Amino acid sequence: MAADRRIVIENCAIATVDAHDTEYASGHLVLAGNRIESLGAGAAPEGLENVARRIDASGHLVTPGLINTHHHFYQWITRGLATDHNLFNWLVALYPTWARIDEPMVRAAAQGSLAMMARGGVTTAMDHHYVFPRGSGDLSGAIIGAARDMGVRFTLARGSMDRSEKDGGLPPDFAVETLDGALAATEETVRQHHDSSFDAMTQVAVAPCSPFSVSTELLRDGAQLARRLGVRLHTHGSETVEEEKFCHELFGMGPTDYFESTGWLGEDVWMAHCVHMNDSDIAAFARSRTGVAHCPSSNARLAAGIARVPDMLAAGVPVGLGVDGTASNESGELHTELRNALLINRLGAHREAALNARQALRLGTYGGAQVLGRAMETGSLEPGKLADLVLWKLDTLAHASIADPVTALVFGAAAPVTASFVDGRQIVEDGRLLTADEDAIARATRDEAQRLAKIAAEA
Ligand SMILES: [Zn+2]
Repeated sequence: MAADRRIVIENCAIATVDAHDTEYASGHLVLAGNRIESLGAGAAPEGLENVARRIDASGHLVTPGLINTHHHFYQWITRGLATDHNLFNWLVALYPTWARIDEPMVRAAAQGSLAMMARGGVTTAMDHHYVFPRGSGDLSGAIIGAARDMGVRFTLARGSMDRSEKDGGLPPDFAVETLDGALAATEETVRQHHDSSFDAMTQVAVAPCSPFSVSTELLRDGAQLARRLGVRLHTHGSETVEEEKFCHELFGMGPTDYFESTGWLGEDVWMAHCVHMNDSDIAAFARSRTGVAHCPSSNARLAAGIARVPDMLAAGVPVGLGVDGTASNESGELHTELRNALLINRLGAHREAALNARQALRLGTYGGAQVLGRAMETGSLEPGKLADLVLWKLDTLAHASIADPVTALVFGAAAPVTASFVDGRQIVEDGRLLTADEDAIARATRDEAQRLAKIAAEA
């Protein structure tokens, strides 16, 4: 068998985001096949064989690839609607449109969402997809195919809804699946697509949507299904005061206690938002090692509130970052969420001590890998881990005069990506995707957005 081809990257600042936050002001990395072989200060070792490429990365910071832990790809074609609503009003305004999606729409929206994240340094993406209209085609297959074509590492959280208006839920009756139908389709998706290997490009999680759109049975049976199949669990939790009120009225307890009563706390679970958490909720997450996907822009857009990220980190809760669906965060970029997480948390109780630049970068990299259950494989730059990394260009107008590269990346303007590698393969060069045609995707998403708007208007 031929030795792995090597790629050598030199003359760059490096933020490894390892356990000691090791950084090099000027260092090198050696990639071999799909792994990081070595890294350190100064130039690469001499005499390396099979070097296919040598990159002079002067003026760059190299970090682990960014990891997005919460998204809804299909919303790419319903951006800019209901812009002045809170969560519940926004959902009620958009459900009737969302319930008309079909496979070509979902494929285009997935390509748009993935392209926007990938060219901004995301190397591991996830999609929480929970709208499966009857007869709409193979939506999970379309989403997974889009991620595979783009070359991005990916987790599909196979979502579901079965609590509609007639059962006291929020979605309209025609937008939901049955309990048995949702469980069977989720199991089928896991069996067909989930890969548990170290360098897996596709994983599947079990992901009923939220307490106000899912029955207690679907939560309980979904948790049992995930554990029987050995996959992770994902849902929305404690997003708004309205959700908290809903849980007290229907279940006689707050969201965290309700999740605990249905088997939804555990180290194999991560939950989006977790904005309205009291001290005992945070302690329960820490005790059970339940993860959190912090989505600062979406929480601001929907006026949900500020999640207590500094308290969660202090308690030992694993926290990653998410853009959330792009109907509540029209930008869909994760690298700007590093900055937003830092700034928004400083508006909370801990003020300037809330988060620093290194902690924000950790949320978007290692923290994301933790909540997706992939911290052994990715999320930091260490020998033996997967070659998922980004070269950020920091020597131009926007960043050149900022004192420190990690500060420049987090506090500064959205930094350009010179190169992004996933599994040792380059997918972005000079801010452009190598694996897809951005302009064609832009046209397709515009056309599908217009087609959906027309269908929804005629319904
Ligand atoms: Zn969401």
